Amino acid sequence: MKRLVSMLLTIAMLFTLAGCELSEDIITTSTEASTTETAIPPQNNDTTEQTAPPSKSEESAGGTETNTESTVPPSPTEDQEQADSPSPTEDQEQADSPSPEIPEHSSFEVHYIDVGQADAALVLCDGQAMLIDGGNAEDSDLIYSYLQKLSLDHLEYIVCSHAHEDHVGGLAGALNYATVSIAYCPVTSYDSRAFNSFTAYLEKQGISITVPTAGDSFSLGSATVHVLGPISTDESEPNNTSIVLRIVYGETSFLFTGDAEREEEQEILDAGYPLESTVLKVGHHGNANSTTDPFLREIMPQYAVISVGAGNPYGHPAEETLSRLRDADVKVYRTDMQGDVICTSDGKNVSFSVERNEEADTLSSIGPNSAQQDNLPPVTESPEGSDQPPTGTDYVLNTNTHKFHYPSCSSVDQMSEKNKQYFTGTRDEIIAMGYDPCKRCKP
Ligand SMILES: [Zn+2]
Ligand SMILES: [Zn+2]
Repeated sequence: MKRLVSMLLTIAMLFTLAGCELSEDIITTSTEASTTETAIPPQNNDTTEQTAPPSKSEESAGGTETNTESTVPPSPTEDQEQADSPSPTEDQEQADSPSPEIPEHSSFEVHYIDVGQADAALVLCDGQAMLIDGGNAEDSDLIYSYLQKLSLDHLEYIVCSHAHEDHVGGLAGALNYATVSIAYCPVTSYDSRAFNSFTAYLEKQGISITVPTAGDSFSLGSATVHVLGPISTDESEPNNTSIVLRIVYGETSFLFTGDAEREEEQEILDAGYPLESTVLKVGHHGNANSTTDPFLREIMPQYAVISVGAGNPYGHPAEETLSRLRDADVKVYRTDMQGDVICTSDGKNVSFSVERNEEADTLSSIGPNSAQQDNLPPVTESPEGSDQPPTGTDYVLNTNTHKFHYPSCSSVDQMSEKNKQYFTGTRDEIIAMGYDPCKRCKP
């Protein structure tokens, strides 16, 4: 009898164990269980508390003629999506098969406005607008005129990524010209003139700050904006309180990280949010402690924009950051060299236009110089209308990023024809030209 009881107990225990494993599998389904498991439960808790801001947006949009209501996907589903895809591969797939179809006559643009050593980006989708940061206080006039030029007298959202002046300063100018429905900021007060001016202008419009929570999402026209950070907020380090947004429009996506540094990047990685983005607004003006390798590996951007002032005293963008972008084969635009940078998406592809200096060597602090190249073997031009490298090609060079690859490397397919050069010769010759081997195919 005793034996029977203990046998039954053992069987019961085995069942329980099997049950546990099963449910864990359902939650995480990946080998990275340990990192994602811990992050997901708080995320779910957050989302339940968090339905307030989106519903507020519906309210406010109700008065104006917008399609917010029809396009707002119920946030639980959105959050579900984010929580359900913890592994990088799954994220990738998710990003490649976008949720909402883009309606006819839809449009999407991001204006990375040149505000010197500061940040300001205007996102426009289907007649709705979101301003993310406004530059320094002295840029207030510039932001005012920028909105005026576009006759944008209403912003659906205004986002102060964090309380530093180079982000919040010029938002007063925006609020002086345009009304706003929702104002997002990681804090509701901060002891500075620039911040107080921002809140004073908000108060004039009867708007109070909404502190967004990671996991939240909302719509801007037919685009969906996911809030990925901040996850924890230590207000003693404002940069790491930065609101991090990933905007998904069709198959294209745009990441804005404010001045987030290594610590916040790591928290976002640990939370397991999809990060893959077509265009990255480089964190903290290219500071070496942002855009870390693990973060960049998950984002896998094709393009990056650095908002930075020429000759700034911080040495931004840092050579380390440029080198990481170079290694990742990212095409970089810079406001210090090129002025305003405008990116347009049709939902599948993005295109860029810049105010000046289109051909600027944006990654070149140590690029090859032309004198050296003159003494070296000639480089074969790519044959027109052909994707195949000419016979005898040993390596493929990216003249923009100064990386070289084996012709079979997957990066070669993604390289724009303009930057592609086929090379016949030795590895040493290419290195002497100032090129670095690709980290992927390791030629
Ligand atoms: Zn900044
Ligand atoms: Zn900052």
